Amino acid sequence: MKKLVFCFLFLGFIFILTGCNGNNLSKKDSLKRAEETKQIVWGVRNDVGLFGLMNIKTGKAEGFDIDIANALTKEILGKSGKAVFIEAAPKTRIPLLKNGNIDAIIATMTITSERSQQVDFSDVYFDAGQTLLVKKGSRVHSVSDLNERTKVIAAKGSTGTENIRKVAPQAQVLEFENYSECFTALKSGQGEAMTADDAILMGIASQNPGYVLTGGKFTTEPYGIAANRGQTAFVERINQALQKIHQNGEYDQIYNKWFGKVAQK
Ligand code: GLU
Repeated sequence: MKKLVFCFLFLGFIFILTGCNGNNLSKKDSLKRAEETKQIVWGVRNDVGLFGLMNIKTGKAEGFDIDIANALTKEILGKSGKAVFIEAAPKTRIPLLKNGNIDAIIATMTITSERSQQVDFSDVYFDAGQTLLVKKGSRVHSVSDLNERTKVIAAKGSTGTENIRKVAPQAQVLEFENYSECFTALKSGQGEAMTADDAILMGIASQNPGYVLTGGKFTTEPYGIAANRGQTAFVERINQALQKIHQNGEYDQIYNKWFGKVAQK
């Protein structure tokens, strides 16, 4: 009898592991699900100025990624389609996708071959590149000024931390949880430079006139929208929708709204 009970318990456990977990949800056809529910759940940043930053007055994230996701949702599902946003930090974004909590990631995410093993990317929707942010008048002008006596600040889980170790292996890299912690560390003098994508650093510099981007881009960071592996129809629809908003001028409108002013500086 005991053996039988154990057997049932074991089978139940296997069922929970295989049948009811998020991986199964994530294997459902995202496009079909979106069409049925009339909504797409997007994973977005809420700590990145210009792309996805929480507006504390409204409690909603605002930025380029959010507007692009809204435009794509309308293209894919029609006017009544709803975009739902969930915060997706670098460390949590792929697990959220794998667990079926979100349908897609649009969150300053660089397309890399390592990440492409885990997710399927759309076409590139934004071209960024890694650079440095320093206090005005800093002795650091470019990556070639980074040496064993320089501390560089970077965000955990970002391509920036890996790239800077390759480009300036002699420099000390200090990692922080998010970009606001990184910038606080730079301001308090814990490091001589902060490194991240130029587009992300532009957002910080535009709010903090005492700080400037320096040295130009030393990597290319093509941003893609990530869906679960095998969601081919969904990714195809995202690509078609991207093409459409490029053609009808909506992409440029959104681009100018967020980068028009900073790009002119
Ligand atoms: N584009 C970089 C990356 O995907 C940095 C942005 C981020 O922190 O998410 O790692």
